[in-house]
Amino acid sequence: MRRRKKKDDLKKKKTELRFFRKKVCRFCKNKNENIFYRDVELLNNFINERGKILPGRISGNCARHQRIVTRAIKRAREVALLGFSG
Ligand SMILES: [Zn+2]
Repeated sequence: MRRRKKKDDLKKKKTELRFFRKKVCRFCKNKNENIFYRDVELLNNFINERGKILPGRISGNCARHQRIVTRAIKRAREVALLGFSG
């Protein structure tokens, strides 16, 4: 079943992407990048498909910026820009 196999490969790729980690924190690298709770596009990089916040070791953020991102995501949820998990 060739088609089935292709699908499995795609699935595999996706999981690899999800656990891909950058060594350098993108916010430390790019100081112009501000974390703002209304920036949904940016925050979407730090939540998984279920709406959960990714841990810093996966997103690649340093502890300081991870904390800022987490706060921004929680605030975005409160104003309903982002959904809660589910
Ligand atoms: Zn940082």
